[in-house]
Amino acid sequence: MLMNNLDPEVAEKPDELIVYGGTGRAARDWPSFHAIVRSLQQLDNDETLLVQSGKPVGIFRTHSEAPRVLIANSNLVGHWSNYEEFNRLERLGLIMYGQMTAGSWIYIGSQGIVQGTFETFAAAANKSFGGSLRGKLVVSGGMGGMGGAQPLAATLNGARFLGMDVDPARIEKRLKTGYCDRIAWNLDEALSILKGAEALSVGLVGNCADVLPELVRRDIVPDILTDQTSAHDALNGYVPNGMELKEALALRCENPDEYTRASVAAMGQHVTAMLALKRMGAVTFDYGNNIRAQAKKAGVEDAFEIPGFVPEYIRPLFCEGRGPFRWAALSGSPEDIHTTDRLALEMFPNNEVLERWMRMAKDRIHFQGLPARICWLGYGERAEFGLAINDYVRRGKIEAPIVIGRDHLDTGSVASPYRETEAMLDTSDAVADWPLLNALLNTSAGASWVSIHNGGGVGIGYAQHAGMVVVADGTEACGRRLERVLTTDPGLGVIRHADAGYPKAVEVAREKGIRMPMDPTR
Ligand code: NAD
Repeated sequence: MLMNNLDPEVAEKPDELIVYGGTGRAARDWPSFHAIVRSLQQLDNDETLLVQSGKPVGIFRTHSEAPRVLIANSNLVGHWSNYEEFNRLERLGLIMYGQMTAGSWIYIGSQGIVQGTFETFAAAANKSFGGSLRGKLVVSGGMGGMGGAQPLAATLNGARFLGMDVDPARIEKRLKTGYCDRIAWNLDEALSILKGAEALSVGLVGNCADVLPELVRRDIVPDILTDQTSAHDALNGYVPNGMELKEALALRCENPDEYTRASVAAMGQHVTAMLALKRMGAVTFDYGNNIRAQAKKAGVEDAFEIPGFVPEYIRPLFCEGRGPFRWAALSGSPEDIHTTDRLALEMFPNNEVLERWMRMAKDRIHFQGLPARICWLGYGERAEFGLAINDYVRRGKIEAPIVIGRDHLDTGSVASPYRETEAMLDTSDAVADWPLLNALLNTSAGASWVSIHNGGGVGIGYAQHAGMVVVADGTEACGRRLERVLTTDPGLGVIRHADAGYPKAVEVAREKGIRMPMDPTR
């Protein structure tokens, strides 16, 4: 999976070990990468490898049902948890940015986020457009690893999509993988392609901080407006406007402070235009890249009038313990994934969202790297499905083990006050004990590898989160581990939300027999 993260079809800049999300890396440097591979090849079944910010640091004797790898990325003591300190340590080669699934080796390319994006746009359609985006215009920035899923997610919902990216290579990658339909080199060209079209996407080469104010001037109001540029990182992610991309990259090397200032100022202009379009009628939301906080630094005091996508569209799923669940076929055979698709449809015949998704995914989603699938499953369903996959591996119905994991966007595994835990009813948004408990619980339950990260999605200091992976290899021992891990994992989210006073979460916890010693309703 480490190598799959860096497959050229999967990673954004594999030569630099960059997987996605600005500078989200799989390993700290190439010597560390090779040392991790050597260590994994030599690891015994009762040993555990420790990886500290992408560098392997020790192998310890544990036991056969303990995780084989424990990973910690980008963690800094609270007071020092900021980009100033992180960038200083990174320059010294002492730390790396793990993003969410890059440093935890469970990134599977844009195919890993496309369902979540599809469901978010569908939820926006339900809330604001009577259930359909047919003929509507969705506008967003960023066509990178995560953002590149937006054009396909929009057209699968029947919408027209206009996306901006400063780097034509990113748009071209989406054309090649079938995520985006057309490229345009200026706004007029993009608008003429979209005129009268249905379910069509265009990637426009341009800077959001230039293009969005132009939409305001021309009175062009999108139906849905969001953003997935790498805004969480003002130095290594977001590109300032008013200059060519080449010039910006030169400035980044020569004068990082000036670059950061220009980048924050550009984000201010970008969000000011988003606010203007919102007031003109666009359904506008933040898509988890922390651009509102960056704009606030630039003096845009009302940046947080733009709501976040989690409280707006996803929170109700978290309250039920639903979350993104992904798996990859180590055989490399697409047929193994098609077999699991059929299995999921047989097992959950009443899950309409799953049915709709699986039907589309089979026809429209190109595999990147190892064949993989993602879908949102509920509490209990994941454990049931994981066990069924393990059984298929045991019986040879699937050729080789299946790697099962989730990203860190999950109910109990993240504290991110500008994203997953924005606006908790009990104001516990910033309490970071939960993801740490999540990692400890997954370790106790025997996941194959477990990770703890700081700053994924929204940048250093803004989030704490945990990831887990469990490998279904068809053995009985693995079945035990799978059941424990997949049952405890979303359960913690249900408890957290119950604790935050969400009535639905209390109900689900009771129904599923989760014991809450401090039941908030008692
Ligand atoms: P990425 O680095 O792969 O891509 C970002 C893209 O933004 C790049 O292609 C870059 O050229 C472009 N860009 C930068 N500045 C720009 C500007 N001013 N105008 C136009 N384009 C610009 O990142 P990604 O993996 O696509 O993630 C995007 C953002 O979303 C990141 O901040 C990431 O942390 C966050 N994220 C969101 C989710 C989610 O679930 N919504 C999950 C993980 C991460």
